[in-house]
Amino acid sequence: MDFAFSARAVELQDRIRSFMDEHVLPAEPVYDRQIAESSDPHALPPVMVELKEKARADGLWNLFLSHGDWGAGLTNLEYAPLAELMGRSIIGNEIFNCSAPDTGNMELLALFGTDEQREQWLRPLLDARIRSCFAMTEPDVASSDARNIRTRITRDGDSYVVNGRKWYTSGILDPDCELIILMGVSDPDAPPYRQQSMILIPRHTPGVTVLRDLPMFGYTDRLGHGDVLFENVRVPAANLLGSEGEGFALAQGRLGPGRMHYAMRAVGFAERALQLMCERTLSRVAFGGPLADQGVVREWIARSRIEIEQLRLLVLKSAWLMDTVGNAAARMEVAAIKVAALDVAHRVVDRAVQAHGAAGVSDDTVLARLFSITRALRIADGPDEVHLRTVARQELAKYKEKSR
Ligand SMILES: Cc1cc2nc3c(=O)[nH]c(=O)nc-3n(C[C@H](O)[C@H](O)[C@H](O)COP(=O)(O)OP(=O)(O)OC[C@H]3O[C@@H](n4cnc5c(N)ncnc54)[C@H](O)[C@@H]3O)c2cc1C
Repeated sequence: MDFAFSARAVELQDRIRSFMDEHVLPAEPVYDRQIAESSDPHALPPVMVELKEKARADGLWNLFLSHGDWGAGLTNLEYAPLAELMGRSIIGNEIFNCSAPDTGNMELLALFGTDEQREQWLRPLLDARIRSCFAMTEPDVASSDARNIRTRITRDGDSYVVNGRKWYTSGILDPDCELIILMGVSDPDAPPYRQQSMILIPRHTPGVTVLRDLPMFGYTDRLGHGDVLFENVRVPAANLLGSEGEGFALAQGRLGPGRMHYAMRAVGFAERALQLMCERTLSRVAFGGPLADQGVVREWIARSRIEIEQLRLLVLKSAWLMDTVGNAAARMEVAAIKVAALDVAHRVVDRAVQAHGAAGVSDDTVLARLFSITRALRIADGPDEVHLRTVARQELAKYKEKSR
């Protein structure tokens, strides 16, 4: 195992760290104020436009994408600490054009898109001229088992027609969202993992209706999570991504690196929460001394540090495995870090909330948002239990072979 970083990776870490300290962290209150003053809670605040332009001009752009001519060409191991640094602010990754769901969608287009699809959609996404969303989950079926989805993609001459309902389609309410990548059933008679396909739907195609702007624990998230109806949505047959029946395989390609990115970012969330916990408890005095002098608080701090260090090592090991043996062979580790990352991040945030007292529940700090994000991410991109199932299956397989 070799976690030594290349000179380029070290240089990028220094530059992202400085950019975060100088520009991103000080912009957080401006971001909050601009959102509060905006007539559209999903519109990109001016401070983000400014910072995105700056990040792009500085070459700190699309660093997540490693594929072919399109990306920065970093390995997962090189990208991991960068995603962690970006994760120290909830607005960090978007500033560097490294935020979901665009990242996964760009990966899909880079890996499986035709030249025309890449020109039409990947190029503007890489330039952040547009945004995109990914519609797989449905309100009416248990979508953690994607074989259950019902939305139909039906061939009709030179077109496909889409009918169904999706929800928690993140990003669709952003006024810049122009592309929906939808997963639906194209052949209900095919074997279970060959029934689904993915299709590219321009956001403003007739028949696409956002029924609701869904909250996250009562918050209106700027990203916006849509409850979306698709009624006789007609798109050219050339909008199919990959071939008919490949939807499941494509989804796996999209979610693997996506889970890794969430995990890396979650290390950043946890680091931020620990920093806030230390600063607050050193400065807040109760029962004759700083809260940080209390044994119980010291235990929160110590356990948080230990858990973050363990998590980071597991994330780096998984990234290194993805680079050296490939995503498929690193499947167990990728499933494990999705669970471990949000588990640690949510626990550290929870301790930091407790250490802040009422302030931890208010929106005067970033903690309440981190609390809700880290909780919701234990469900998004596949709930913990599905990943635990993968880990347990691989573990048991070793012993099943032995007991035969
Ligand atoms: C903030 C947020 C953003 C999201 N963004 C998107 C998006 O952009 N696009 C999109 O398509 N979806 C998105 N989702 C949806 C998310 O991917 C699904 O909610 C998730 O896959 C679970 O599907 P479900 O909600 O249908 O839960 P269900 O399938 O109904 O499962 C409910 C619960 O059952 C349990 N469970 C499931 N399987 C097992 C098992 N094998 N063993 C034991 N227990 C199990 C789990 O605890 C699970 O949470 C988002 C969700 C959230 C919260």
